[in-house]
Amino acid sequence: MSRFKLRIYLKIFITSFLISLFISASAADIRVLLSNTSSSAKITSNKGMIIYDLSGKKGVKVIAFREGTVKYSRKKIEVYVNGKTYREDGLIFKPEKGGQIHFNNKYYRGVIMTIPSETPDKFYVINVIGLEEYLLGVLAEEIPHTWHIEALKAQAVAARTYAYEKILNNSPKSKYDVLATDMSQVYGGMNSERESTTKAVNETKGLIMTYKDKPIAAFFHSTCGGATDDAATVWGKNFPYLRRVTCNYCKPSPHYEWSYTIDIDKLEDILDNKGYDIGYIKKIALVGKSDAGRIKDIQITGSKKTVNISSNNFRIMVGAKNMKSTNFKATLKNRKLYLNGNGFGHGIGMCQWGAKGMAEHGYKYTEILHQYYKNIKITHLK
Ligand SMILES: [Zn+2]
Repeated sequence: MSRFKLRIYLKIFITSFLISLFISASAADIRVLLSNTSSSAKITSNKGMIIYDLSGKKGVKVIAFREGTVKYSRKKIEVYVNGKTYREDGLIFKPEKGGQIHFNNKYYRGVIMTIPSETPDKFYVINVIGLEEYLLGVLAEEIPHTWHIEALKAQAVAARTYAYEKILNNSPKSKYDVLATDMSQVYGGMNSERESTTKAVNETKGLIMTYKDKPIAAFFHSTCGGATDDAATVWGKNFPYLRRVTCNYCKPSPHYEWSYTIDIDKLEDILDNKGYDIGYIKKIALVGKSDAGRIKDIQITGSKKTVNISSNNFRIMVGAKNMKSTNFKATLKNRKLYLNGNGFGHGIGMCQWGAKGMAEHGYKYTEILHQYYKNIKITHLK
């Protein structure tokens, strides 16, 4: 058993040892948080379902049914089904052979687990699923499925590595590994699966990127705008494999150049709401710049005081889709702030539009990955 496999096995054993028995014998299962809710959750299946409790062998309940409404009540998870209520510390819903679970208008592979949340009076709805099956529902959400297969394969390895690193490095107390949103990777279950992205996942099955025998933090972004950046420069945290690289392939991206204008009145309101009581804005200066052109801080001089805000935080404050990157120039004129920049996203790790361009120029997914992640190895999970 490899070190990875051993660690993952131990982790699953400690946190939810039963779950791994229900799904598959794969090296890694992942727990994806679908919902944290105080209201009831309707869980259905196109075939029957079997419910289990969390307590172990003796607690298994085998009740085939098609629909159950789950509630959280007096610190227990309750489901009312076939005229009877079951109350347990947690419940697992597994579809009968050939069926899928349906929740919140989406179909899911694997099983659904409902357990009390860390938030009082709420419960989690978690999809526990094999890592490979999870990726099928991620890839087309993170990259257009119409892109070149080698770009899709590069994304598949990056997405697998990202998820696997989370599984390994989450706190053992954590009740789930990833969110289903862009806070982790967007996951849409079976509804998001596409033929091309499924092919990319299958053709890279089990492959992850490692540095010194550990899975890397495989960050990626839409468009670097000419060069990616050192993570150390932008985030102040050093990752030896996340280095500045020149990118010659993302020019066709619609985000290669962008501009955004914001009224100073509006910016003053935003700053005020965030607790920066600086008065009227008089001057804006950019402080510090990476080799690739990303700005470190924005210095804003107001009638009351001057503040320095990291350009990352500033970007989030004005909207990360308005101000697409921290690689920009700023002009203050007639009570308006004009921002002109390059790229979309944080600029660390793989540039997706660059990967697309490289694929179209004949590069293989392994070459694409080695371009954007330095000194890494591409290795099999098992
Ligand atoms: Zn690029």
